[in-house]
Amino acid sequence: MPVGTLATVKGIPQDLLEEIGPEIILSNTYHLYLRPGVETVRRLGGLHGFMSWPRPVLTDSGGFQVFSLSDLRKVREEGVTFRSHLDGSSHFFSPESSMEAQIGLGADIIMAFDECTEHPADARRTRESMELTLRWAARSKKFFEEHKREVQWKEVASSQSPVGSNPGLLAAGDWPLAAEQQLFGIVQGGMDLALRKESAERTIEIGFPGYAIGGLSVGEPRHLTREVVEATLEHLPADKPRYLMGVGTPEEIVEYAAMGIDMMDCVLPTRAARHGLLFTSEGRISIKQARYAQDEAPLDPKCPCRVCQRYSRAYLRHLYAANEVLAQVLNTIHNLSFYLDTMRTVRQAISLGDTPRFPHAAER
Ligand SMILES: [Zn+2]
Repeated sequence: MPVGTLATVKGIPQDLLEEIGPEIILSNTYHLYLRPGVETVRRLGGLHGFMSWPRPVLTDSGGFQVFSLSDLRKVREEGVTFRSHLDGSSHFFSPESSMEAQIGLGADIIMAFDECTEHPADARRTRESMELTLRWAARSKKFFEEHKREVQWKEVASSQSPVGSNPGLLAAGDWPLAAEQQLFGIVQGGMDLALRKESAERTIEIGFPGYAIGGLSVGEPRHLTREVVEATLEHLPADKPRYLMGVGTPEEIVEYAAMGIDMMDCVLPTRAARHGLLFTSEGRISIKQARYAQDEAPLDPKCPCRVCQRYSRAYLRHLYAANEVLAQVLNTIHNLSFYLDTMRTVRQAISLGDTPRFPHAAER
C-alpha cells in the first residue's frame, strides 16, 4: 500500500497512481483529524470523494502517530491525551474516538486503536502495554460494530486498467463502488515471542476479518523484526489477510510476502523518491551524484514506467540538482512503479505455486 498520509500520495496525482496500479492505499487518521478535520472530509464525500480515489483506502488508528509525533502524551485506561505536532493544541484519542474518526473519514479498512510499545521495553511494561491494547481492541470492536457503515463512491471518469499484466488484479469496471467498512485487529507484544503468541490468540478470540502485526520497525535490528514476524504469523489464520505494518525495502517486502504476509505499507518508496534515492533492477541509485550528469541511459532499462520510457538519468539528475518540483513527481512515479512491479512478480510466483524471491541484479 502506497502511503497517502494527508489524503495524497505525495508527489503523484490520482490518475497516474491508478495507472501504476495499487489496489489500496493507506491514509493517516492522526494527520487528517488535525488537518483538514474529520468532519470536513466526511462532508466532502469521505476520503474517496474528497481525494477522488475510486479504490479501497485503509486508515491507521492514529495510535502510532500519537506515540511517535506528539509531545506530552499521557496514556490512561480511557485513552491518550496528546499535543498536536502542528500547533501544540491539546487533543484526546480513545478507541471510540479513533473508530468515530475512521468511520467518518470513510475508510474501507479501519484499524483498531492500539498502543505501540516502545523499544526497548522491559517484560512488565511490554505485558501491560499488550493488555491495554487487548482491552482497547475489544472497545474498538464494540464501537465499530455499532457505528460502521457502507462506504460508497462514484466511478471516476479517468479510471483505467493498470498497465501490463497483473495477475490477480481487478480490471477497470470491476472495482466495487460500495463496501461495508471492515475493522482489523492489531497484534502487539513487543519483541517477546511468548507475548506475541498470547496477543495473537487473544486478538483472534475478540474476532476480526483481518489481523495486523504492529509494534515493529520501531528501531529494533532487522533480524529481530523477521524473528517476531515469523513467530507471530504462525498463530494468525492463513485464510484472513495478515498485514505487517510499516515495512519495508523492496527486498524485505518480497521476503515477508514469502513468509505469508498479505499486506504491507511503507513511506519508503515515496519518501526516498523525494530525496533522490531510486530503487532499480540494478540496485539503488542516488540520482544527485555527478556521475549521472551526462548519462543518457534510462533510470532503469528494465522498468516499463513512463519515466524510464521517456527520460534520461542525466535529465533526472539535472531536475534534482536544480530542485525542480518535477524531480519529486518523476522520482515518485518510478519508485512506486518499481514497488508495485515487485509485488506483481510476487503474486505471479504465488499463483504459479513458487516461493516469491527477490531477483538479484544479475538475474534481472
Ligand atoms: Zn521506472
